[in-house]
Amino acid sequence: MENDTQHGYPNLPPKVFLFILIANIIGTNVFIPHYFTLEFAFSIWTWSLFADIVFIITMTLSLIIPLKLHAKNGDIFTNGLICGGLVYFGYMISWFFVCNLSDEFSMDDYTLVYHGYWGALACMITSMIMMAKTDPNYIDSKQKNNVKCPNCNKLLRVPNTFTGNANCTGCDNEFRVVSLNGLSVAVEVGEIPDSVNHSE
Ligand SMILES: [Zn+2]
Repeated sequence: MENDTQHGYPNLPPKVFLFILIANIIGTNVFIPHYFTLEFAFSIWTWSLFADIVFIITMTLSLIIPLKLHAKNGDIFTNGLICGGLVYFGYMISWFFVCNLSDEFSMDDYTLVYHGYWGALACMITSMIMMAKTDPNYIDSKQKNNVKCPNCNKLLRVPNTFTGNANCTGCDNEFRVVSLNGLSVAVEVGEIPDSVNHSE
């Protein structure tokens, strides 16, 4: 029985949607802390379709990259900072296209984008909360174990939930990796019957 969360990041589409909304609403509020408005947050989508697409792509990557890094190394703080930096960079790319492709703005207005730090900050905090709340089963499935090649004793890295055949990068020996309770064991092919591992 395979766990769904091993294949992709859990509940990613609603997370990405919420993240883009926060990036959009807080990022367009360049007047914080003086006042807060939803006016620009919604009208910004009407200025350039191409910039909209660029914004959606850059913001999606700004969330997914840090989340995947977090699943691998467990570092919430550094990956949160990476997220904030990517968002700020994504604003700069998207706003470049708004200035160049829309009738409403020109490159004279480009410097407005430097005020997007509130959005970058909000996105950074949002990503950190998402990382902190990530399903531990998913994190586990992304963790790696060392196994020793039974033939040449070379240490190899495998996901700690991986059960299946592996090829040694040192001697090209094929062996089987069996995962149990987060531990990985390497055994020679033939030691256990194939049918044991076809339980999914
Ligand atoms: Zn080997």
